[in-house]
Amino acid sequence: MNLSSLNDQQRAAVRHTEGPLLLLAGAGSGKTRVITSRIAYLLKNRGVTSEAILAVTFTNKAAREMRERVESMVDRRQAKGMVISTFHALCVRILKEDIEQLGYKKNFSIYGGADQLRLIRDLLQEINTGLRKYDADRVLYLISDAKNRLIAPDTFQPRHGDEYSGVVAAIYPRYQRALKAFNAVDFDDLIMLTVRLLQDKPAVLEKYQQRFRYLMVDEYQDTNAAQYRLLRLLARGHNNLCVVGDDDQSIYGWRGADLGNILDFEKDFPGTMVIRLEQNYRSTGNILAAANAVIRNNRKRKAKALWTAGGPGDMIDYLLCDDDEDEARTVVERIMAEKFRASLNYRDFAILFRTNVQSRAFEEQLRYQNVPYVLIGGQQFFDRKEVKDVLAYFRVLLNPRDEVNLLRILNTPRRGIGDTSADRLIRFSAEHELPMWQVLQDAAQVDGLGEKTLEAIGRFVQLMDSYRRRFRVGRLSETGRELLEELRFEDDLLRTAQDPERARRRMANVAEVVNAMASYEQREAQPTLEGFLEKVSLLDRDEPPRQDKDAKLQRDAVVLMSLHASKGLEFPCVFLVGMEEDLLPHKKSVEESFDIEEERRLCYVGITRAQQKLSLLGTSRRKKYGVMQTRAASRFLEEIPGEVLRRSIGDAPSTSTEEEKDQLARTAFANIKSMLGD
Ligand code: ATP
Ligand code: MG
Repeated sequence: MNLSSLNDQQRAAVRHTEGPLLLLAGAGSGKTRVITSRIAYLLKNRGVTSEAILAVTFTNKAAREMRERVESMVDRRQAKGMVISTFHALCVRILKEDIEQLGYKKNFSIYGGADQLRLIRDLLQEINTGLRKYDADRVLYLISDAKNRLIAPDTFQPRHGDEYSGVVAAIYPRYQRALKAFNAVDFDDLIMLTVRLLQDKPAVLEKYQQRFRYLMVDEYQDTNAAQYRLLRLLARGHNNLCVVGDDDQSIYGWRGADLGNILDFEKDFPGTMVIRLEQNYRSTGNILAAANAVIRNNRKRKAKALWTAGGPGDMIDYLLCDDDEDEARTVVERIMAEKFRASLNYRDFAILFRTNVQSRAFEEQLRYQNVPYVLIGGQQFFDRKEVKDVLAYFRVLLNPRDEVNLLRILNTPRRGIGDTSADRLIRFSAEHELPMWQVLQDAAQVDGLGEKTLEAIGRFVQLMDSYRRRFRVGRLSETGRELLEELRFEDDLLRTAQDPERARRRMANVAEVVNAMASYEQREAQPTLEGFLEKVSLLDRDEPPRQDKDAKLQRDAVVLMSLHASKGLEFPCVFLVGMEEDLLPHKKSVEESFDIEEERRLCYVGITRAQQKLSLLGTSRRKKYGVMQTRAASRFLEEIPGEVLRRSIGDAPSTSTEEEKDQLARTAFANIKSMLGD
């Protein structure tokens, strides 16, 4: 393994393979590169088997890129058994093997946001005196927060005088019992239950300690208490734990990430070797000057300054636009111009924003100008209603005890089991403490169900039984398609959607699920329905489905994403938009918990994604809930030194009429075609 492409400190970190290592360094200084080089070094120079290697990071995208980088440095075969994954995927892997020891079954369902909320709402109704309505989102947030701190339902202490924490104390144990009865876990459980498993079952812990001899964690600054505990458990014994991070990029405080984990590391792991990196290999001098100047205003940080051996590069542009439409137009036109001027690809451009709603204007404009783009995040494919309906069938086929999903599909598409009948079934199941699925199998014992309803229930049960068998033997995507055909989703969609256009879109989405299945099937050596659902559950909350592996990855498209999702990535040209008070820094942070420092870190993350060219944009007016509001420039702009910032006003010609817009689009399209030479 040739380490000559690394600097001295990086090399030291790669070579220090035994014992705890803390690599604390600024953006773009090569932290992730150290991790991938270190894995390759362990495999090639230290003769470590790939099964002994575990690397953890925060998004699937980051995990995938890491794996690809390692594979490019070593023999593919040599890298085969290593585990490079997100925390959640790692925990699913462990739970799949050993969750039975906690009294769950192996075919457990994973509940995401909407399923969780539905359950919480039901439970709130149960305890509600009818006098007050509690906000389910808030209750869920507080439960999630407790889980991230490893506070179990029975040890949760309501805070005196805090109404919501009283509600949580009542709901949390019920919620957890319901999940278990449904043989389901939520996202936070994935980590909390794994920790419990490793803590309570020494044999299980030992198995993983024996297996994973070398642990590496990227983006360590964003780990929460539960994740930290997990790492400590796994590393105890050999202590071969290498963590890399940057306190200036800690942006998940709101999800319980704890900077203390960095500060405590040396205490918890005596003899830790600490390495710092300050040379930045990513960005130009001007971009770094801006980044350094902004982050310097934070008080809670370890002082460090990035430098580069490269030149200052272009000035940073600040463009003040009229309104959000003007902002979007300006960005897209600059992208088109810059692409041809500097002969770049579309994928070299990223548009970064603070909140997902900001993406709409950009999407519209990009579509309009025929510029290909990918939106990372937003309403995800697998979160759409009709897609969730289809997935609910698969989930219940695997895990009949999954009642949230069972109730979801009981009458979707409509088959004549109305709300009243459903209520009767639910009540019967609760009174007799029988799982719903069992009640359905013998529905005649439930009072008050009409003959037609009973028939419909009978057909439903039969259908499910038959497909449970067929999925075991048949080809996955084929069986999936047959099921959907038999269900006749189209009829229902056509009947219920407000307009045919929407119905058509929804039908396409339903069909797309089968496509997703087919491409999963192609990728996997042993495709199973279970495996497919697992992949779907673990998609990054900020990632679109991968319909086709290569096409998606190779696709040349402008990237749109939130600042949170951009962590760890880099792009030649970055447009950081919405540089306004109340957006960046975000209003919530200003009013509520007021963590202006976390907002500044987000801004720092955005600035440091840029390699060559950074443009900042803001508007003087913006529509909110349909009303125009005057906007003030972000305070972070003032923190950027004048020598590196070039201020101007948005330069997009404003087009008013539809004809003019069409004309502009046609010209743009013609331009592209002629330049592509076809
Ligand atoms: P972030 O904090 O944003 O995650 P990072 O510290 O993980 O950044 P990397 O992504 O590993 O930084 O590296 C940034 C860029 O610098 C990459 O393009 C990487 O290939 C390059 N790089 C890192 N180290 C070196 C080096 N020694 N020589 C040349 N290029 C390097
Ligand atoms: Mg990195």
